[in-house]
This record gives sequence, C-alpha cells and structure tokens, in this order.
Amino acid sequence: MLMVGRFHTHFLEEGKWSDYMNESGGNNDCLFCRIVEKKIPADIVYESEDLIAFKDIKPKAPIHCLIIPKKHISTINDIDESNSNIIGLMYEAAAQLARSFDVDKDGYRVVMNCNSNGGQTVYHIHLHFLAGRQLRWPPG
Ligand code: AMP
Ligand code: ZN
Repeated sequence: MLMVGRFHTHFLEEGKWSDYMNESGGNNDCLFCRIVEKKIPADIVYESEDLIAFKDIKPKAPIHCLIIPKKHISTINDIDESNSNIIGLMYEAAAQLARSFDVDKDGYRVVMNCNSNGGQTVYHIHLHFLAGRQLRWPPG
C-alpha cells in the first residue's frame, strides 16, 4: 500500500483549491474519491501507487470490479497529455486482475462510460472489469 500524493493543483486556479479538495487531495463531493481515502468502505481487490480496484456494489456479472485512478478525473473528456498515462496503467491493472481472477484465457470486458448517453453515473473515471459469464454484444 502506498501513499496518495497531492496531484490536483494544476486543474484548479489558485484560491479555488479549498472549495473542491479536502486535505488529502480528494474531491469531497466525489464518492470514488471518498473510497480512495477509505472514508467509505469498499471491497478493494487491487491497489498501486496510482490506482485502486474494488468490487462493484451492484455487479452485472459474476466478477465486476471498478478500476479507478486515485487522482480525481471526472470523465474521459478530461483526459489529455498531462494525465493520459493513467489509462495505460488502468489497462495494466485489468490484465493483472484477469490473471488473478483466472479469467484471462476465458475472456472478460473492460469498458468506460462517458456522460449521460454513455451511461456514466459516477463522475470519477472508472474502468468496469466484467467477467465470469458470456457477455453479449452490442451492449444495450
Ligand atoms: P457508471 O454507471 O459507468 O458511472 O458506473 C458506476 C458504477 O459504480 C455502477 O456500476 C455502480 O454499481 C457502482 N457503484 C456505485 N456506488 C458504489 C459503491 N459505493 N461501491 C462500489 N460500487 C459502486
Ligand atoms: Zn473523485
């Protein structure tokens, strides 16, 4: 387990920090930031310096985890050259989860929803990791 650093300053103009962020650098209004800070319990299955993964509270498959950056990023629209390295790390974590759940050979799906039409309900990016059954395509 590694410590979370302060990462958010470059997103915000000086003076607005305290409106958005708490002492540990998380977003007070964000459910997943609170999970990162361990203020809300979650069944954590993976943790690195930059990421955590935990079981989805309403699983849509026998194995359904969410891989999230510790740093708050609201949507895919907020990914740019300053933070896009996190996406590669999230897929590395997915590959590692697949091996640890022994579903790498059978297969699995990773998906990230964006905004209303994409079905996003929590505005802190998360990669859904779904496995353990035949998944249909296309999704609804
Ligand atoms: P999305 O609809 O793509 O934004 O996905 C949000 C996911 O977060 C849903 O699959 C929810 O079931 C899941 N979720 C919401 N609250 C929690 C929580 N407290 N712990 C774990 N998963 C959650
Ligand atoms: Zn957040």
